[in-house]
Amino acid sequence: MPRFYCPAPLQPDALLNLPPQAARHVQVLRLQPGQALTLFNGEGGEFEATVTQMGRSEVQVRIGIHQPLDRAPCRAVTLALGMPANERMDWLVEKATELGVSGLQPLMTERSVLRLSGERAEKKVAHWHSVAVAASEQCGGNRVPPVQPVSTLSAWLAHLPVTGGGARLLLSLRPNSPGLREAMAPLAPDVPSTLLSGPEGGLSPAEEEAALASGFIAVSLGQRTLRAETAALAALAALLL
Ligand code: SAM
Repeated sequence: MPRFYCPAPLQPDALLNLPPQAARHVQVLRLQPGQALTLFNGEGGEFEATVTQMGRSEVQVRIGIHQPLDRAPCRAVTLALGMPANERMDWLVEKATELGVSGLQPLMTERSVLRLSGERAEKKVAHWHSVAVAASEQCGGNRVPPVQPVSTLSAWLAHLPVTGGGARLLLSLRPNSPGLREAMAPLAPDVPSTLLSGPEGGLSPAEEEAALASGFIAVSLGQRTLRAETAALAALAALLL
C-alpha cells in the first residue's frame, strides 16, 4: 500500500486536499479515485485513506481510521555527528532513519570538510529532512526524525542539558575505551542515548575532552578505523536493533 508523509492535521472521515509533495507522489503513481493509501503526519501512528478526486495537480482523499502503529525501536537514540561530506551525509541520514534514529544533529567540527552556514546550511537541512521523509515513507516509520539546524560542536555541547538525558556515548578511537555493549550493559534497555561521532578526520583531542567534560563516555567499536558513516550506523544498529 502506498504510504505518504502528510504534515497536516488528520481526522478520520474528513476530506483533505493533500499537500503538494504527497499529491505529486499520488499523481506519479497514477492512483485513481477509490484506491487506498496510507498517510502519516509524524505525530504518531498512521491513517488509512482513499482517493476521492484527482485534479490536474490537486488530489482529494477521505481519511479513514487511525492505526496507532509507530514501528519504533526500543529506545530513543539521537545521533550528533561531524558531517561527512556531500552524498555520504545524505546516505547516512537515509540509513539512520531506516534504523529508527530519533533525531539528527549535524555538527561542524575542527576537522570538518563540509562547512555550512546561513542559507546554504538551511537548504541542506531542508534537503536532509526530505531524505528522512522519503526513508520513513519507504520503511514504515511514522515519526520522521527531526534534523536540527547545523551547529558547531562547541555550541551544541554548551547547550546540552547539564544532567539527565540518558547515556552520552562518544564514538572514539582513543585506546582503552570500553566497547559499546560493555558501556551500555549497566543501563536500562530503554534508556535514551545520545551518540556523538566524528567526521572523516575525527574529532580533535580537545574536542573529545570537551565532550567527556559534558558527560560523554568514550566507547569503542573495535580495533578497525571505520569511516564516519560506517561508525555511526554500526553504533545505531547495535543500540536500536
Ligand atoms: N583519523 C581519524 C581519527 O584518528 O580520529 C579517523 C576518524 S574515523 C574515519 C571517523 C569517526 O568514526 C571517528 O571520529 C569516530 O567517531 C568513529 N570511529 C571510527 N572507527 C571507530 C572505532 N573503531 N571505534 C569508535 N569510533 C570509531
